[in-house]
Amino acid sequence: MIKEITCISCPNGCEMSVEVVENKIIRVENNKCERGISFANEEIFNPQRMLCSTVKTSDPKNLRLPVRTDKVIPKNKIFEAMKCINNIVINKNIQMGEKIIENLLGLGVSIIASQSLKINSNNV
Ligand code: SF4
Repeated sequence: MIKEITCISCPNGCEMSVEVVENKIIRVENNKCERGISFANEEIFNPQRMLCSTVKTSDPKNLRLPVRTDKVIPKNKIFEAMKCINNIVINKNIQMGEKIIENLLGLGVSIIASQSLKINSNNV
């Protein structure tokens, strides 16, 4: 099986062809450096992503607060992670980088605020 993947390890964004036979990578083409091979292994056997999203707030002037994971998470956990994120409502002031969810899905990863939020108490 040949998979076409884009290496995101650097801005070059090499579009690589990866041949996989019996759960083993036997050939990688179009990678400009060795890091492409490591990326291909990760992407094919254990794909991971940073997750960026927003959570609800109780402040009518700032209805959503941007958040992100502080590390990558397995791609197949993103749907479950979004369910957790969608259940959160922030009703207090938050500093950028503050943890919103700790140990998301037991992965040892936190959801952190991508910006600060000051709840306007006149609006709550
Ligand atoms: S293969 Fe090397 S040069 Fe190409 S995107 Fe990946 S890290 Fe960059």
